[in-house]
Amino acid sequence: MKNENTRIVPQASDSEVQSWIGFSEAASSDGGDDILLRSLRPQTFAEYVGQSIVKDQLRIACTAASKRQESLDHILLHGPPGLGKTSLARIIAAELGAGFKSTSGPVIERPGDLAAILTSLEPFDVLFIDEIHRLPRVSEEVLYSAMEDFELDILIGQGPSAKSVKVDLKPFTLIGATTRSGLLTSPLRDRFGITHRLHYYEEADLVAVITRSAALLGVVLASEAATEIGRRSRGTPRIANRLLRRVRDYADAMNNGEISLAITQTALAALEIDACGLDRMDRLLLSTIIDKFEGGPVGVDTLSAALGEDKDTIEDMYEPYLLQEGFLARTRRGREATERAFTHLGHTLKRTNQGTLPLFEDTQ
Ligand code: ADP
Repeated sequence: MKNENTRIVPQASDSEVQSWIGFSEAASSDGGDDILLRSLRPQTFAEYVGQSIVKDQLRIACTAASKRQESLDHILLHGPPGLGKTSLARIIAAELGAGFKSTSGPVIERPGDLAAILTSLEPFDVLFIDEIHRLPRVSEEVLYSAMEDFELDILIGQGPSAKSVKVDLKPFTLIGATTRSGLLTSPLRDRFGITHRLHYYEEADLVAVITRSAALLGVVLASEAATEIGRRSRGTPRIANRLLRRVRDYADAMNNGEISLAITQTALAALEIDACGLDRMDRLLLSTIIDKFEGGPVGVDTLSAALGEDKDTIEDMYEPYLLQEGFLARTRRGREATERAFTHLGHTLKRTNQGTLPLFEDTQ
């Protein structure tokens, strides 16, 4: 896929471009990862559990691009952390037989860092940018022409001596992952040809993830134990794998290594994961809204201060699942604990005749 360049721009010397771009590859990596996590990562579409609609569409897009010998359209994957965005990006690269480079938005501080990565790509490589919504704006702007025309538009120098330089790039596929697609600017969002949202996993899919991981770890796992872990994994494969590893610790320490339902329940109770899969922080968030803010509404900044937890962490990690499961409601005036949250935490919700403010009693 050759890009036509009709503009005439002064050519910079290689050294000028290199000094703007920077030699450091610190902002890029081949996806360094915890060894265990890496071993549990699905390597092919067949191993990737669930998300069937997304998977089917991506598989077709990969096959079509390979047949046409073109780079695959840029892809935006969004959804809460741990649902398999990075895994999917790696599978796509493998399916295309292409190289894979990964980086993340906050790491790319200077436009030159991004330019260094882009110029180092081989034809048809997949560049994965995690947390792309956190890419600094100046770096993001470098992506526009890179994504659209496979070229870099860079300005070298300052003032009257500044010159615009064009650098051709090899065709590549950008896969951006975000937990907050709403924070993406529209020029960036519009440059993705394919966009998919990943959803929380059904219990049966989580059981499949857990069973597969247990086999890879060489662990004997009772099917009721897999179901119990799946039910308490917040719809998230990463959490399912983490709980499996913690339960395995209990099985090794207290049993003969076999994971039974009883061992699973003991381990999950010790980890303070309740029957709905909520952990201590989830419950603290809900009980703070109930106890300190009369059930809400309360703004996320106030909540963040009351919990001593980062606002982004609340919005990215905790809220989406609590919202989906109906423990939390998001209104214009802030977050509200729902009736389900009151019941789950052992409070009784009473509403006044006139007011919207919920009254509550502690039944414990
Ligand atoms: P994200 O990039 O969305 O945060 P990852 O791709 O890093 O999520 O997934 C975290 C872990 O969860 C992976 O290492 C893998 O073990 C597991 N995982 C995620 N999605 C799947 C899936 N669909 N099938 C099997 N395992 C999965």
